[in-house]
Formats: sequence, structure tokens, C-alpha cells
Amino acid sequence: MTELRIPSELLPSDGRFGCGPSKIREDQLNNLVTKYGPLLGTSHRQSPVKNLVGSVREGLLELFGGENSPAGALGASALDDGYEIVLGNGGASLFWDAAAYSLINRRIQNLVFGEFGGKFVTAASAPHLEPPVVINATPGSFLPAQPQAGVDVYAWPQNETSTGVAAPVKRVSGENVDPDALTVIDATSAAGGMAFDYRELDVYYFAPQKNFGGDGGIWFALMSPKAIERIERIAASDRYIPAILGLKAAIDNSRLNQTLNTPALTSLALIDDQTQWILENGGLNWAAEKTRASSNLLYEWASAHPLTTPFVEVPELRSPVVVTIDIDPSIDALEVSRILRDNGIVDTDSYRKLGRNQLRIATFVSIEQDDVAQLIKSLEFVLGA
Ligand SMILES: *Cc1c(COP(=O)(O)O)cnc(C)c1O
Repeated sequence: MTELRIPSELLPSDGRFGCGPSKIREDQLNNLVTKYGPLLGTSHRQSPVKNLVGSVREGLLELFGGENSPAGALGASALDDGYEIVLGNGGASLFWDAAAYSLINRRIQNLVFGEFGGKFVTAASAPHLEPPVVINATPGSFLPAQPQAGVDVYAWPQNETSTGVAAPVKRVSGENVDPDALTVIDATSAAGGMAFDYRELDVYYFAPQKNFGGDGGIWFALMSPKAIERIERIAASDRYIPAILGLKAAIDNSRLNQTLNTPALTSLALIDDQTQWILENGGLNWAAEKTRASSNLLYEWASAHPLTTPFVEVPELRSPVVVTIDIDPSIDALEVSRILRDNGIVDTDSYRKLGRNQLRIATFVSIEQDDVAQLIKSLEFVLGA
């Protein structure tokens, strides 16, 4: 099995199936040089780069809450409802710490059904807050939030990248829910590839190295007026907030189309290009249909093949952007992904800490359905060898 060569007619044209950093489209890379090249290496305090930030902010707002988004199709508009795109440096991980200082009033409830949801709990276990309320679900499954007095932030990932579970995005309701409680969604691997209704949340934050094909190290957040008001109230209190974790400063700077400190310009260029590309193709609704169709190919194949099973049992919870497939114990999944890598198909290994005999395959919006079909042919060849 070690020297296995997959026949070239079975290989995908692009072998990048990793969950982040993930495939960057060829046009996106070409545009980085031709269209955005003149901006690279110039000041982020001058209008050319500020206009780029402005374009990203407008584009994302249109993508998430404009005409071709789920809420937009129902006549709603995120722009009219006062939602804003805020950005800052440090990626999704920094946003967790920023939330602990700038967004959580006293207590958060975290839904944990994998590694990423759990990392927010660690960040929110800060001395100035009450301990997080954690709703744990077995990896591969999901448990919804529980209405609870005294909880002012309900948080979970829309897509748990470590397990391939997609969670519903819906406000928590019930008698015990504090009226000013916020719904805060980690959309790092979901944003740009999964549908959602912005009216069901207050903060939709993400780093762009997944569906957006950007580079890491930066975060974006769609914020509701309610979230902005909370951030302003906490900023005006006597809580100590390290400057880099101050979301008030992030909002103020974003409104001026800039960041507190120097951003990675290449990442801004890549995300701008990708946002425009998705919008031109039909927006979030188009993107969500595309990833759904690509992932369905894999789920249908894995359900039918005698040596594979979709890890997520409940079909409604199966992620359209991160497909996890258990491999029969008679075959070492690590060996399979190693052979794939030797043949140019990279990053199909399972999330290490999950510890399963599994493959994990991204079907982000940039990944073509034809390539997913070819990947399946390659997998059949390797499993049959
Ligand atoms: C990748 C990922 C993160 C981590 O993003 P960083 O930019 O590396 O901090 C967080 N949450 C989810 C759901 C992710 O997929």
C-alpha cells in the first residue's frame, strides 16, 4: 500500500481539501497580484487601503444580510437593521479573549460539541466573570442551549470544524432568557459557505482562512446594534480591558475602515476578492447550495461504501462544509490520508484530538464539485487496493 500511485484520471484537478488554511482559487491568487498588487506594501492609514477595508465591510454585509441571503430573500436587510461589520487582528482565537473582556457581562453559556466550542470556554474562564455554563454534547452530536436566568451570552459554533457537526443558528427563547442576552456564533468555518438568518444572532465572527480562502491572523464580525450597545456599555465601565482585546476600539476603527494596528493586507485582498466572487455568483444562497451539493456526494458515497460511514449520525447535523468519514478499523485512516498526500491530495486527516479512525474533508465554497467527485474515485481506488 505504501507506494500506491493513484491513476491520474482518478485525481482531482486541485488536491486541497484541508479545513484551513484552505484552497485559494487561482483567480483569487492572480487578482492578488494584478488587481490588489499596487496596494500591497502601502500605508493602511491612506485611502487606497481604507477603501479596500470599506469594500470588504460592505461586501460582507451584503453577503450576510443582502438580497441573496436567507433573510434578504424574505425582505429583510442587515444594513437597514443597523448591523455592522467589525474587524481586528488576531483571528478567531483572539476574538474569544476579546469577548471575555469586551462582550460578556457576567456569564456565558457555551455549547460544546468539539474542540473549537471548548476553546471559547477556556477563554471565558476569566477571573472577572462567573464560570461559564457548559452544555456538553458527545462529539458527532449536538445539544441546544438551555434558557437560564443570569446568562448574558449564549455561544456556539455554527460549524464545529473538529467533528463536522453543523448546529442550528437560532436565538434562545423562553421565560428564563434575560431580555438583553446575546447570541454569539463562531462562524469561522461556516461563514461564506453556510446559510443563516442574521436576525437570529447578535455576533457572527470568523477568521477568513476557510471558505474565504484568506490568510489567518484577522477576524471579522457581523454585529447587531444590541451587541454594539453591550460592547459600549462594558467599555464605559471600570473593567480593565487590554487594548488589543477592546471591541469598542475595533468598532470605532472599523467605522473608519481601519484597524487598531497594522493588518495583513494580502488577507484583506483575498477576502475582498472572494466576497465579490460569491456575490457575483448568487450570494450566500448560491454558496450554501454549492457546499451542500458537494458534501452530499461524499455523504452518499460514504453511506453506501462497505468500509466507510459518515461520522455524524443525524443527517440534519451533517456539515455541508466539513465532511467527517469513519473508516473501517481494518484500514488505518492515517495511512489512507498519507497515500492521498503522496498523490497530491492533501490535508484529509481527521482532527487529531478527536482520536478517531477517520478522514475529514473540506467542501468549502471554492472547492469544485467535480474535484469532490474525483476525490471519491481516488478514495475508492485506495480503499480497494
Ligand atoms: C479554524 C477555527 C477556529 C480558529 O481560528 P484561528 O483563526 O486559528 O484562531 C475557531 N473556530 C472554528 C470553528 C474554526 O474552524
